Amino acid sequence: MYDYDAIVIGAGNAGLTAAATLQRAGTRTLLVERHNVPGGCGTSFRRGRFEFEVALHQLSGVGVTGQPISLREGLFQQLGIADQLEFVQEHDLYRAVVPGVVDVTVPADWDAAVEMFDTEFPGNRDRVARFFELVKQVTFWQIAAMRGMPGEQIDPLLFRYGLRPTRDVLDEFFEDERIKVVLGMYWTYLGQPPSELRFQDLALTLFAYLEFKPWHVRGGSQAMSGAVLDSFLRAGGEVRFNTGVERILTESGRVIGVRLEDGSEVTAPDVVSNASLPTTYGMLEGIEIPGAVRNDLATRRIGVSGFVLHMGLDATPAELGFTASTTFVNRDTDDDRTYRAWKSFEPARGICVSSYDVAPIGFAPAGTTHVSLMTLQYADIWRDVAPPEYARTKFAFAQTLLDLCETVTPGIRDAIEEVDVATPLTMMRYLGHPGGSIYGYDQDATEGWLFRNSERETHVPGLHVAGSWSGMGGFQPTLEAGARVARRLLRTTAA
Ligand SMILES: Cc1cc2nc3c(=O)[nH]c(=O)nc-3n(C[C@H](O)[C@H](O)[C@H](O)COP(=O)(O)OP(=O)(O)OC[C@H]3O[C@@H](n4cnc5c(N)ncnc54)[C@H](O)[C@@H]3O)c2cc1C
Repeated sequence: MYDYDAIVIGAGNAGLTAAATLQRAGTRTLLVERHNVPGGCGTSFRRGRFEFEVALHQLSGVGVTGQPISLREGLFQQLGIADQLEFVQEHDLYRAVVPGVVDVTVPADWDAAVEMFDTEFPGNRDRVARFFELVKQVTFWQIAAMRGMPGEQIDPLLFRYGLRPTRDVLDEFFEDERIKVVLGMYWTYLGQPPSELRFQDLALTLFAYLEFKPWHVRGGSQAMSGAVLDSFLRAGGEVRFNTGVERILTESGRVIGVRLEDGSEVTAPDVVSNASLPTTYGMLEGIEIPGAVRNDLATRRIGVSGFVLHMGLDATPAELGFTASTTFVNRDTDDDRTYRAWKSFEPARGICVSSYDVAPIGFAPAGTTHVSLMTLQYADIWRDVAPPEYARTKFAFAQTLLDLCETVTPGIRDAIEEVDVATPLTMMRYLGHPGGSIYGYDQDATEGWLFRNSERETHVPGLHVAGSWSGMGGFQPTLEAGARVARRLLRTTAA
């Protein structure tokens, strides 16, 4: 007799939706989280009179009313929390700035975006419209392929464009470098430069935000994490915070439970892990890591982390000069160099500036603004910083993000009331992931649903994995992954 029907390790997005989906289907589930709050990346913290959003810059997939495959009318409805959450729409996709080269704001609407490009870059209307049509088609057929449609039924367009570098596709459609910079800007979210980024990944991202709009959540991503946890608890689930799982126990080749860090053991025939794949397989006790998994893990690269300034500013967004919730500022158009800079302390060459009060999420006191400045960065260089040098290095590098931000909001430094800086080491400490990676493995051309199968097959009966390390990173993909893995588990136990 087992203590529970299932144990979920980690209360990140995927752990939370997996636990809630299982428990709501009548599976007695224990959720175990090392941190003291739910959410993983999806959390917030307080400094002075400010509350800071940790991770959510733009939530994709929420959708407007009447879009049944959206998060709002799909997953959140299924978990019974759609009415509990208040979403705040960003009306623009982003403002894209390369000082002295381009400064435009892309509306979060297909037609309005075509109009904007036509006004700012006359003569390109048809090209932009054709490009957006390609984005829609590549996304549609990619989703059909992901869902198992046979290859011969898939439009060859996907095979012609899907795996090509984004840069190639932009070159095919446009001559004006500024348009390519603006349309390719989401590469700085996705972690691969346009010369490497698979076009299907950019297409999916543009589609997710243009069709379903970019959103914030009132109360921050912590409110969303709390709502999913509520859904789990209301259904009778049990959660233990401040509790790490140390080992995944096996007997006769299958999972039988976990050992917690205090040495106690809890049994269940199924364990869903939201921890990284290296951590999950490294925790297996009494069984060798299966050869297929070893080979798979050996050919993957730990993904990128982030460097973030969370700031509470004593001025309104208008006083500071913010015109959009999301602004990307790149020092120049050399994206390959910007990508290489993520592995060095070269002054930040590209930042994402999120102003959470252009469309207010309700954190900042009246008359103030909550802003985060972020650049992606790999962890290796930070591991080599000697401990006595850490604080100095972190504040020196933070200055370089502020320098870049000053090009769009001059004088922002003078308004800083509170500031906190997170480095890749901070992400490592709070998430427990190798390299402090925020999207799991490097999302390069060898990653993803086409070449990897980590989520569908762990090669260990009773072990299931869900989250950014076994699929796509980001909020929407991981929220959906947890529910998907739980539904698959429910189908197998019912069979
Ligand atoms: C600064 C930042 C900005 C981001 N911006 C965006 C954005 O704008 N849009 C977007 O879509 N995505 C963004 N992301 C990425 C997104 O937040 C993540 O990809 C996603 O939240 C990962 O979810 P996950 O389910 O994989 O779990 P994670 O958030 O990785 O959480 C895993 C959880 O497992 C727990 N855990 C690990 N090991 C154990 C153990 N042994 N025992 C118990 N618990 C354990 C950890 O404590 C953690 O809570 C951002 C991330 C960061 C950090």
